[in-house]
Amino acid sequence: MLSVKAFTFSPVQENTYVLYNEKGECCIIDPGCYFPEEKELLKTTIEKGGWTPVLLLNTHCHLDHVFGNKFVHDTWGLTLHIHEKEKPVLDFAPQSGLMWQMPFDNYDGALAWLKEGQTIKIGNDELETRFTPGHSPGSLSFYHETGGFVIDGDVLFNASIGRTDLPGGDFDMLINSIQAQLFTLPDDTKVYSGHGPMTTIGFEKMNNPFVKLY
Ligand SMILES: [Zn+2]
Ligand SMILES: [Zn+2]
Repeated sequence: MLSVKAFTFSPVQENTYVLYNEKGECCIIDPGCYFPEEKELLKTTIEKGGWTPVLLLNTHCHLDHVFGNKFVHDTWGLTLHIHEKEKPVLDFAPQSGLMWQMPFDNYDGALAWLKEGQTIKIGNDELETRFTPGHSPGSLSFYHETGGFVIDGDVLFNASIGRTDLPGGDFDMLINSIQAQLFTLPDDTKVYSGHGPMTTIGFEKMNNPFVKLY
């Protein structure tokens, strides 16, 4: 089973997740480490945990979720895995960084495409990809059934939802993604979002002011 280690990085306060199993195999999702000390913290935490990074994933490629991709690639030699529709978003990230006065070196290695409904292996553990566009055109959520959690990027937040005013954003699509791909998970599923505290599917079904159940 995979356990979750969360970090909150950069002035944007983005949540980076490391999922690790009993053998110490780990997967890094949305490394948003911007400052050198944040990169160092990610590295030392992984080293102290005795973990071996085997996979690099992005839920989507907005600026705040990709700052540390290159660092992870350079440090552990991992290939970035994203949905194909996030490629233009990734390519635009450095420009976006200049606009927000957060310049950074973008990932420039090979890309591996993830498809919806795909099973991703981390050792013997599995993540299921769910296609959840609306905040970004190729947003993926990663569901770990055994551990009862989903890593959903900026789709559904604790009592909120992702913004839809960025390029490729679409409000109706986002609501549909949440209803069809997230609210169909068991109520006790923990939701680890790209920003803010953890929540559960059941809590959001009852309390989220943006998404109606039906
Ligand atoms: Zn985003
Ligand atoms: Zn974000």
